Amino acid sequence: MSSIASSKAHAYYGASYADLEAQDPEIAAILQSELERERHGLQLIASENFTSPAVLAALGSTLSNKYAEGYPGKRYYGGCEEVDKAETIGIERAKKLFGAEHANLQPHSGASANIAVYQAFTKPGDTVLAMSLPHGGHLTHGSKVNFSGKWFNVESYGVREDNELIDYDELRDLAIKHKPKMICSGATAYPSLIDFKVVRDICDEAGAIMWVDAAHFIGLVAGKAIPSPVPYADVVSFTTHKVLRGPRGGMILSKAEHAAAIDKSIFPGMQGGPIMSAVAAKAVNLKECATPEYQNYAKTVIINAQALAAALVDEGMRAVSGGTQTHLALIDVRALGVTGKEADERCGAAGITLNKNSIPYDPLAPSITSGIRVGTPSVTTQGMGTKEMKSIASLISRAITKPESAKAISAEVAQLCEAFPVYPEN
Ligand SMILES: *Cc1c(COP(=O)(O)O)cnc(C)c1O
Repeated sequence: MSSIASSKAHAYYGASYADLEAQDPEIAAILQSELERERHGLQLIASENFTSPAVLAALGSTLSNKYAEGYPGKRYYGGCEEVDKAETIGIERAKKLFGAEHANLQPHSGASANIAVYQAFTKPGDTVLAMSLPHGGHLTHGSKVNFSGKWFNVESYGVREDNELIDYDELRDLAIKHKPKMICSGATAYPSLIDFKVVRDICDEAGAIMWVDAAHFIGLVAGKAIPSPVPYADVVSFTTHKVLRGPRGGMILSKAEHAAAIDKSIFPGMQGGPIMSAVAAKAVNLKECATPEYQNYAKTVIINAQALAAALVDEGMRAVSGGTQTHLALIDVRALGVTGKEADERCGAAGITLNKNSIPYDPLAPSITSGIRVGTPSVTTQGMGTKEMKSIASLISRAITKPESAKAISAEVAQLCEAFPVYPEN
């Protein structure tokens, strides 16, 4: 304990690893093995990334100790001078980066941000229109096992069967028929762009709040690689740990007229004290996102996703909606004679981490599925490019069709990953 209070280095994560190792070797060893896992396997989960050492430093800092219920300058606890500065800097950076009128950095997660959005604009029993789960919507968009489906009347829209793109005519018809309080756009497995101007028009016609759940693609917006929903939406909620590459957490942007409702909904509405180490880490991430390097990253993520989807098609698979305009692709694997579950398991055995995923109008159950979802945020952070995407497609194809070669393939996977080191030692 004696060394912890004194050294400046102990305000940060890295230097305190030795303390952890001495005090709790069991957990320290797990941290080390996880780092090795991230280094030696291919991380293709579309919602994951490798956040920066600077973000990890803020996350592992003594700001974790501080209670700060309330907002900067209006706290319910003393001693908030330092954390107030961090949160204020973060809010200003978020507003500037996204051109938003209001920002709240306190949501603990994407789901927490969404609970706050429901609470700010609706009452239990109200009707909300959101993307259907089997077509890519999130659990918090009305799943029967989630608060959203239990407490609200959630109607769903989906994609057209012929082109697997959002059916805006159906969306308009449903909006006029059900008169929802709020319309949600955004998904977890939709590879195409959303036309926010059309959604705004539909919301205006139906008198609905326009809510965009941008969890997946907000990083591409931050990097100016795709159009932003911020000018159109009343409220935009998102996670900070996906393409955005910040700490695990959530954030909400809104028009100024909704600022008080959003802030009250987070605290005291559904959270207590914010996790100030995470709030500071969000500020660090937002500074990174404003750089030309990050903008280049966001564009490369999309180029890589398009190259990966095209290469998987060359390997005999089918890309849902013909490809991707974002960081992820949804791949129908049935032509290789496997289900999504089998493809997921066989890739896992070969050191390739991805997830099974329903495809639109999937004839198989959500626990089996006909597809896989692949994303390029992590491999792009590692520095891989289109040449490596071709190699990855070939590795995926061999892992699926030659499960008996899993060991040999995983050695090739490790070799590829070691050429693009994650968190290099120096
Ligand atoms: C990831 C995601 C969420 C949930 O985020 P958590 O931080 O896991 O709670 C919500 N909505 C969408 C669209 C997502 O992709």
